Amino acid sequence: MTNCFILLAAGKGKRFKSNNPKQFTNYLNKPLFMHSVDKALKSKLFKSIIIVSNNPIKNIKDKSIKVIKGGRERYQSSQKALNFIKNKKFTNVFIHDAARPNFSIKLLKKLNSNLKKNKAVVPYVKTDNSAKYKIENKIQNLNRENLLFTQTPQCFNFKSLFNLSKLNNTKITDEATLFLDNKKKIKFIKGEENNYKITTKSDLEKLNIQNFYGIGFDIHRLIKNKQLYLGGIKIPFHSGLQGHSDGDVIIHAIIDGLLGAMRKKDIGTFYPSNKRRFKNIRSPNMLSPILKNLHKEGYFINNVDINLICEKPKVSKYRVKIITSLSNLLSINKDQINLKGKTVEKLGLIGKEEAIACEVIVSLNYYA
Ligand code: ZN
Repeated sequence: MTNCFILLAAGKGKRFKSNNPKQFTNYLNKPLFMHSVDKALKSKLFKSIIIVSNNPIKNIKDKSIKVIKGGRERYQSSQKALNFIKNKKFTNVFIHDAARPNFSIKLLKKLNSNLKKNKAVVPYVKTDNSAKYKIENKIQNLNRENLLFTQTPQCFNFKSLFNLSKLNNTKITDEATLFLDNKKKIKFIKGEENNYKITTKSDLEKLNIQNFYGIGFDIHRLIKNKQLYLGGIKIPFHSGLQGHSDGDVIIHAIIDGLLGAMRKKDIGTFYPSNKRRFKNIRSPNMLSPILKNLHKEGYFINNVDINLICEKPKVSKYRVKIITSLSNLLSINKDQINLKGKTVEKLGLIGKEEAIACEVIVSLNYYA
């Protein structure tokens, strides 16, 4: 049994009031549509993922993902995608609207297991609102107990959906409509309240997002005959930073800040200085497993503020380079990072250019 995931991201989003279609807007540190793509990948349920978009999509590295152009209306985009895969021998197809980034992988799995005995499986939610129905100028009461609001992802036996879809030329808002109109059976399963559709900007803020803050500090002595690294880049200087690793105080302070916000102790717990295998380790290699863990647990970096405390080198000369490097290492935008240089009036070890220190504050968003 092979599955294909079709992501409809070609909508114009008229109610969103932005130049950028809503499915491309930045939402929790990545374009909104990428949340669905990443969940589909992570579920390991799909042999192929088709993104239907009328905007160019760059930086897609996974080979199982294809981007195709959509139509004017949702149903036309869906038809195009089904046509595109018609000879690819998929048993089942999942269709999902990119404007719903908050479904769970658990829901995908539940849909998939229900497909074994059904040709169409569709999630729904109920409403707490009282319901009325308007026909022309007459408004009638509706029993809300009988109301089902359908969501996506919806999944279908490919052939059944393909045959119904190719005959359709009316605007429909989901594929379940086709099955119902043609009196075909659908298995309805409970959807998720969080899986609401993002149609206006205020919908972006509905999620229950928690904030956490972390502080980090580090200082290393400067020694001759060592390369200086700050923020992951080489800096030409008379000395480098002494230490078990490359001594990159900026990255070390960031790691401690991130661990602090995640409430996971400190850098020494993960990289004890008495362990041989960490000798001469480059600091970006210390950062990357911490970052992987951070993403895995559902955290997103909101911003990073850095004070680099040294007499020299002059921070202004390297600010852009360091911020660019950190934005790559942390996978965040440059405008989420701030770097300040602070001298110490030639006082103490730092003042005599015998040490460099760094302090950092990070804020993380968390949503489960
Ligand atoms: Zn350090």
